[in-house]
Amino acid sequence: MPSPFDDEFLKNLNQPKLWSGVNAFQSDPLLSDLTRQLARPLRDELDLLGRYVTSPDAQELAQMANTNLPQLRTHGPSGERIDTVSFHPAWHALMRRSMSSGLHSSLWEPPKDADSKSKAHKIRAVRLFLSAQLECGHLEVLSSTSASLAVLSAAPQLRNAWAPRILSRKYDSTNRPHGQKSAVTVGLAVAEKQAGSDLNAMTTSAERVGEGIYRLSGHKWFVSAPMSDAFIMLAEVDGATGCFLVPRLLDDGRANALRFQRLKDKLGMRSNATAELEFSDAFGYLVGTPDGGQRTILDMLTLMRLDSAVMASGLMRTSLAEAVHAARGRQVKGRALVAQPLTMRVLADLALDVAAAGALSFRVAESFDRARDSGEEAAYARVMTPVAKYWCTKIAPAVIGEAMEAMGGNGYIEDRPLARHYRDAPSLSIQDGAGNMMALDLRRVAEHGSELFEAVFGIIARDLGGSGAKIVEVLRAALALCKGDESAARIFIEQLALAAAAAELYRLGAGRIADAFLETRLAAGWRSTYGMLDTRFDASYIVELLFPEAE
Ligand SMILES: Cc1cc2nc3c(=O)[nH]c(=O)nc-3n(C[C@H](O)[C@H](O)[C@H](O)COP(=O)(O)OP(=O)(O)OC[C@H]3O[C@@H](n4cnc5c(N)ncnc54)[C@H](O)[C@@H]3O)c2cc1C
Repeated sequence: MPSPFDDEFLKNLNQPKLWSGVNAFQSDPLLSDLTRQLARPLRDELDLLGRYVTSPDAQELAQMANTNLPQLRTHGPSGERIDTVSFHPAWHALMRRSMSSGLHSSLWEPPKDADSKSKAHKIRAVRLFLSAQLECGHLEVLSSTSASLAVLSAAPQLRNAWAPRILSRKYDSTNRPHGQKSAVTVGLAVAEKQAGSDLNAMTTSAERVGEGIYRLSGHKWFVSAPMSDAFIMLAEVDGATGCFLVPRLLDDGRANALRFQRLKDKLGMRSNATAELEFSDAFGYLVGTPDGGQRTILDMLTLMRLDSAVMASGLMRTSLAEAVHAARGRQVKGRALVAQPLTMRVLADLALDVAAAGALSFRVAESFDRARDSGEEAAYARVMTPVAKYWCTKIAPAVIGEAMEAMGGNGYIEDRPLARHYRDAPSLSIQDGAGNMMALDLRRVAEHGSELFEAVFGIIARDLGGSGAKIVEVLRAALALCKGDESAARIFIEQLALAAAAAELYRLGAGRIADAFLETRLAAGWRSTYGMLDTRFDASYIVELLFPEAE
């Protein structure tokens, strides 16, 4: 009986080999470029991660965690409320591995060496990009846990009490009070039934009972990672909005009045539970001032938005890599699909967006590293985070859908990870602020003047070189349009994303890729599907360069 893993057997069936076991780090020229300057041990670690994420064992864990879904347990054997969610062991295995690599902690740990001091965001972005190629559901927990420390900076005492366990890399899934655990995770609980984007419409309220201690009552409509040890919440205090850390269990082990009503039946990110929460008189600790909640939580959301852009870029990269691989291994009319002119054109067109999204996401991560020492980079981080979140997450479903189609029926079947990636992608653009909110956020920055934009335009013009001045003029016009007309905000945010991504591709030295991206995205007319490259651009060169064939 021939083995289904036998190359010759699959070739006779005209079926490509499964996309697995290809090193996601080594096979990605963008990552090689971005990490060339890093110290050897760090590159070795990324190499290991690159091998792990596409390994059959890891892929099986991801599939198991997404088919054996989390189960809500509201009551214990004696009828007592327990409000817990149980996860499959595969989920815990994914969490254990990703926590041990520090995805939730590395930004905040004391630097071990020069790279981790000056490039903490960039290095973590590379890890996250690779990990997203395996499984995104569990990464949501690590994203909110990491970002929670930005919020806790506003409350030094709380930070001191919680940070050691938030930073611990020893995953602990036990249901015990945070003080008794080796490591904890932190979720975000903001959205309510009547108020997701509009934070002013929230009805959860908080009443002061002691110094920094409040009693919270209300509900939360979407709470991912409900087994987190604490949640960052917003609640109304005396007519203003405060930010709170709300532990799930009290110090003595009793539940902190957070009642899980049900778990959402979601399209994607199914490995991770998302609960509806109701609570009356739950204890919480104030973070920052009682009226500073919206400002405080923005620091957390900003980091989570960058993570969403990076994860979307990772999802697109792995999906297209699988599609290119399949097109190389499938024959139609006597030649490989990848050699069919139309297929090649579509794959090349997709590859341009995938490379641009990755380059833009990493560039924004880098700006966070440099923001402390450079006003220009701080401006880039502020302006370009919503832009990258908007564009990278918004194109992901279309890119992954087209990659799926390039694989034919096999792409649609759950035996391969691509179908799951397709279901996971739209959530990245909705959560932590949907597309319009990103565009409106940019407009809010514009209300305070053009200074930050001019700093960003300066970077873009410099990196674009010859065509920079003309493109920046177009951006200035789009900004003016957006300032005067709210409904034009998407025009500006998309133009800015495309220009910044092109500029970054030039800065990275990807001249021909950047030329093709710029010409077809910024200089050409409206296009709504892939495959629109014209013959000036060598489609085969683009695909072979960005997706080299595995040896
Ligand atoms: C899988 C998943 C997991 C989630 N996990 C969490 C979680 O852990 N914690 C949490 O707090 N939330 C979570 N959410 C909720 C998410 O953050 C919200 O769904 C999101 O912020 C949008 O809010 P909403 O659903 O209330 O939609 P709405 O606020 O009603 O918005 C609907 C649409 O209208 C647009 N819109 C809103 N205002 C305007 C305006 N003024 N002008 C133009 N357009 C506008 C929005 O961009 C959006 O596209 C999760 C959502 C999903 C899908």
